[in-house]
Amino acid sequence: MIEFEYSELTPSERALQAEVREFLDRVLPPGSYHPALGFQAEKDPEFSRKLGAQGYLGMSLPKQYGGHERSAVDRFVVTEELLRRGAPVGHHWVADRQSGPVIAKFGTEAQKQRFIPGIAAGELSFCIGMSEPDSGSDLASVATKATRDGDGWVLEGRKIWTTFAHLNDWAIVLCRSTPVAELTDKRQGMSQFIVDLTSPGLTATPIPFIDGTSDFCEVELDHVFVPDELVLGSIGQGWAQNTSELAYERGGPDRWLSSYTLLAELLRLHEQQPLPDRIADVLGEALANYWVLHSLSLSVARSIDSGGAPAVESSLVKEMGTRFEQDVVTAVNAVVDEAPNMADTSTFSRLLISATLTNPSFTIRGGTNEVLRSVAAKGLQPSGGKR
Ligand SMILES: Cc1cc2nc3c(=O)[nH]c(=O)nc-3n(C[C@H](O)[C@H](O)[C@H](O)COP(=O)(O)OP(=O)(O)OC[C@H]3O[C@@H](n4cnc5c(N)ncnc54)[C@H](O)[C@@H]3O)c2cc1C
Repeated sequence: MIEFEYSELTPSERALQAEVREFLDRVLPPGSYHPALGFQAEKDPEFSRKLGAQGYLGMSLPKQYGGHERSAVDRFVVTEELLRRGAPVGHHWVADRQSGPVIAKFGTEAQKQRFIPGIAAGELSFCIGMSEPDSGSDLASVATKATRDGDGWVLEGRKIWTTFAHLNDWAIVLCRSTPVAELTDKRQGMSQFIVDLTSPGLTATPIPFIDGTSDFCEVELDHVFVPDELVLGSIGQGWAQNTSELAYERGGPDRWLSSYTLLAELLRLHEQQPLPDRIADVLGEALANYWVLHSLSLSVARSIDSGGAPAVESSLVKEMGTRFEQDVVTAVNAVVDEAPNMADTSTFSRLLISATLTNPSFTIRGGTNEVLRSVAAKGLQPSGGKR
């Protein structure tokens, strides 16, 4: 059964929202940064450190390691405000959203002590090392090999689309530790490793994105040694661990706010004059959709807080949210008088060009919409009810 229970923010959650808004007005005044398209944002380690010092990172992680043990809804409130501003969240994004939580869940005591304080402080950055040239949606076909060697493992293979691998500190890399030929199910025999991105044998080569930026990379792992103390969780349990990591990637405001700043800039362009009807229509329709998606996404966070595992609901939020993000870009393009012009360096033009070029990726990154629909359909089957 799919459950989206309607709720609104409580007075204390509204107080947190006001506090975050005041904080961002202070540390990120308009004009002091380039607003981004959602989490496709610049790395700004200094800003990440300020968020960490304010207690806005590692919010759900254990206090004993520097986290704050706050609710998923509190984290939702902070995330929504950061993305609405197009804040430069690139440095800490993956570490805060998923690497910290998986290390807290599966890591050894030593790993928790080593990594979580730096993640909660906004200092450590992480990458997602899942996709490979021949393995994206079907992660069980991952071919990067992990071979036992003395007191550690040697990794050989190639990862791709690894965001910020050329700039970040660590990656959680999914590997095949037992050959498929020795297994009855290819989801077995997989393991996760915490890999230092400066390791000998590791080369991260940026791949230019269509809008001229270079955020993601191809990563070659040529006999990269990973000591036993950096095995994440249990050898052979990589599939289950990775599935739980994917759950952190979906269902949050990052999956429906990617084009929000574009719409906000469109409104700003017209703030001195009566709003033309065609633009009011775009804004009105988008606002209604934002409210629906905000409510669905909030219900996912509430479900997590009450011990639920809303994998199906998260998949649906991502499927609907990313399609809506793309619809916003199409609608804005339809109401602008002139085609985007590379020579125009205004914030609106910069965001419109980038959104127009990159919006196809919204429904691909973090799991394609076809795959998410399949997850939802399986969850709706009677046997899928046991979540
Ligand atoms: C901007 C961006 C950033 C990314 N960052 C990272 C990152 O940091 N780390 C990382 O590991 N990966 C990252 N990725 C990779 C992303 O997760 C994959 O692109 C995605 O999972 C799809 O895999 P693929 O590209 O191999 O496509 P494929 O899996 O080859 O899919 C191709 C097409 O076939 C469809 N398809 C595949 N299987 C099925 C099925 N069973 N049923 C129906 N249709 C199916 C897909 O929906 C898609 O339309 C990023 C991608 C983008 C666009």
